Amino acid sequence: MFTKTIKLFTMFGFEVKVDLSWLVILVLVVWSLSAAVLPQQVPGLSSSTYLLMGLLGALGLFMSIVFHELCHSLVARLYGLQMKGITLFIFGGVAEMAEEPPSPKAEFMMAVAGPASSVVLGAAAVGVSILTARADWPVPVTGLLRWLGVINLYLAAFNMIPGFPLDGGRVLRSMLWQWKNNLRKATEIASKIGLFFGALLIVLGFLSIIMTHTLGGMWYILIGMFLRNAARQGYQGVIVKQALSGEKVRRFMTSDVVAVPRELTIKQLVDEYIYKYHFKMFPVMDGDMLAGCVSTRQVKDVPHSEWSEWTVGDVASECSTENVISPDEDAMKALVRMNATKTSRLMVVDGNRLVGVLSLKDLLRFLALKMELEGDEAGEAQ
Ligand SMILES: [Zn+2]
Repeated sequence: MFTKTIKLFTMFGFEVKVDLSWLVILVLVVWSLSAAVLPQQVPGLSSSTYLLMGLLGALGLFMSIVFHELCHSLVARLYGLQMKGITLFIFGGVAEMAEEPPSPKAEFMMAVAGPASSVVLGAAAVGVSILTARADWPVPVTGLLRWLGVINLYLAAFNMIPGFPLDGGRVLRSMLWQWKNNLRKATEIASKIGLFFGALLIVLGFLSIIMTHTLGGMWYILIGMFLRNAARQGYQGVIVKQALSGEKVRRFMTSDVVAVPRELTIKQLVDEYIYKYHFKMFPVMDGDMLAGCVSTRQVKDVPHSEWSEWTVGDVASECSTENVISPDEDAMKALVRMNATKTSRLMVVDGNRLVGVLSLKDLLRFLALKMELEGDEAGEAQ
């Protein structure tokens, strides 16, 4: 979901980005506002006025969501949590958290900050719209203010649905966490409620399509699907984080590394290494020095007929944060990096020295064993 993002600006040290999917929403909001909502709420204006109002409305909605996410992020910072930035994507915004909140109270305050800010903003906009209407301000201005006020109240209400990972679900999770003293259990319950609300939205969406013969219900179905998916991922994320917390890369790496010399031809690499060991990535050595790594991805870029003409050194990629990790780094960080770069093997480097290779398979095998043996207790006393 967060692959194609555009950086817009930085605010209070937080990067504000939009996902390309948000542009779809932008067009839909402008269109539905100018063609349907506004002509109904403030009738009798020209179509170009409606279009202008639609554009301003979409801009207002955008700023409202940024404000909501910013309030989450500022409270998070108060509790010492690192926030990566704010990304606006198809169903609103996400304040990207790099780690779980440190305590139930921190989570509660962070989660409540967003909807509370939307309620304040919404009430203020409605209030101003009433005042400006009394003062006979132009109808487009008062109408737009009222719409923005109401949409902010909707935003708060939707986010307070008590299913994880929505804000309301986080509030619920923080309370369960405080009560049961178990983050995993709390997340499990809050996620199940999230799954339920997701299903409810999908059913409502289908009912709405059948009863009204319009496609407006599609929104409920999409949001419901998104919510269910996020609830599942959020729960799995917590399980994995807890199982790997405190574990270092060193523990999972293989010290018995199969490296290749840079003079090797691609053909030799494929025949003598890839087909023999079935690894997708090999460290590349220049004498005793680590020169980088070569993976099946780079081999694929060389036409088959030229495999004997190219050497590993010609195509190898240099060592970078994308393919190298320190043995004392958190195993969770390695997993996040593999996920982000879609790789399954990282070189473990201590200073300049290659000390091992970490494979996704080994990490997952450990996780599966831990789940099997410790199951429910894995999250106790967290
Ligand atoms: Zn929120």
